[in-house]
Amino acid sequence: MNDRKGPHYSVIHLGPWEGWARHTEHHHKLGELDARVFLKHRLDLTSAEVSLNWFRPGEETPVYHTHRRNEEIYLFIKGRGQFQVDGETFDVEEGSCVRVSTPGLRSWRASPDEGLYFIVIQAPTGGLDTSGFDDGVVDPATPIRW
Ligand code: ZN
Repeated sequence: MNDRKGPHYSVIHLGPWEGWARHTEHHHKLGELDARVFLKHRLDLTSAEVSLNWFRPGEETPVYHTHRRNEEIYLFIKGRGQFQVDGETFDVEEGSCVRVSTPGLRSWRASPDEGLYFIVIQAPTGGLDTSGFDDGVVDPATPIRW
């Protein structure tokens, strides 16, 4: 399948999540990062940053961090690990979903015997107030039949 863009959409195909580990990204502060895909530039995102990530068994974030404007949502797809916010630690695994608000001092790691696949969404705090479910508008046109 080919990546494509139209006037109102962008599509990329990254393949199965097991393959995320082969991607690398350049982060403006952290340098080269392997096993990461940031979607902001690839999809021309303007409202959120979304990244697909893989941590090797035992890998952990090298530093704590907070955010200035964006809350973060972590969606754990596969594997097991631990998450830490403001000194509180809890386990995460496939299906765990974590929200951290801007001042939350956060860190996470994969378990020593299993890697951790996860998606991180960064979006402006309070942004959903104006763009939530009620933002959708039903159009009277019928979709083109497949
Ligand atoms: Zn962050």
